Amino acid sequence: VHNIPVRHLMSSYAKWWCDMNTRIQFSDFNLSQEVGKAIEDMGFEEPSPIQALAIPKIQAGRDVTAQAQTGTGKTAAFGIPIIEKIDPAQRRVQALVLCPTRELCIQIAEEFSNLLAHLPKITVLPVYGGQPIERQLRALQAGVHIVIGTPGRVMDHLDRRTLVLNNVKTAVLDEADQMLDMGFRDDIERILKLVPQDHQTLLFSATLPQPIIDISRRFQNKPEFVRVEYAELTVPQIEQTYIEVREREKLDVLCRLIDLEDPKLAIIFCNTKRRAEELSGKVRARGYRADELHGDMKQ
Ligand code: AMP
Repeated sequence: VHNIPVRHLMSSYAKWWCDMNTRIQFSDFNLSQEVGKAIEDMGFEEPSPIQALAIPKIQAGRDVTAQAQTGTGKTAAFGIPIIEKIDPAQRRVQALVLCPTRELCIQIAEEFSNLLAHLPKITVLPVYGGQPIERQLRALQAGVHIVIGTPGRVMDHLDRRTLVLNNVKTAVLDEADQMLDMGFRDDIERILKLVPQDHQTLLFSATLPQPIIDISRRFQNKPEFVRVEYAELTVPQIEQTYIEVREREKLDVLCRLIDLEDPKLAIIFCNTKRRAEELSGKVRARGYRADELHGDMKQ
């Protein structure tokens, strides 16, 4: 393995974080004590660039289009101002976040729950396909303030009239480009048409292809545009390396690395289901305890 060129990728994340000319603090946002305390509990010391840029605009009631990837802190960028706007006394859905997958849905709901740690009266509910609908029905009937949902399941609830959007003040399209790629365009449009006219629409997307611009034109009112230039998907605590190998050497190199590093647990990401299946079979054939996980398998 020592003959293989291993290059260390510099993490520009820390640098990008420090390069911000204006160092904005969470205290600059006039947050409630409860949200401020939750942010402290979560260990956030200062706003990430997308938060520094987007939070004041969202607080000012503007529609915002934000170009930001996962890992930039975008969830809290819309989560913090949304939570501050919720009226706990009104047990109606006041904010709706649409996102492409159940995993993201759960992740966003968890981030919201953390931000709500000191506001137990505000409730958040993830609604996604795959989970028994009855559980979601019960929770919706009891009244929730914030719904995080995948478009298909949200439509399902709207058709059953178990979800009412008449009181939504903020609608978020998170990972909008992914949602369009997954064919949710019609659902998104149908859902947004049911939200009252005078609401705020926030659009977060890693890329801004024409179909996203079209959605923005149709559903946003003079949106402010914010963008994080150096969105790195890395954290300084994780060392990253890459190895250049020819296709036919990949399996050998991988197995040698596993032997050398002797990891207790490891995840190998593949770009297709087929690849995951093949690789898992091949490493098992070599005596490693491995299993596969991909979208063709039952939940
Ligand atoms: P996201 O881009 O929303 O998926 O966030 C990526 C991760 O960064 C999540 O684990 C957040 O909890 C965390 N995070 C968000 N904002 C901050 C911040 N200001 N400081 C430190 N971590 C943060």
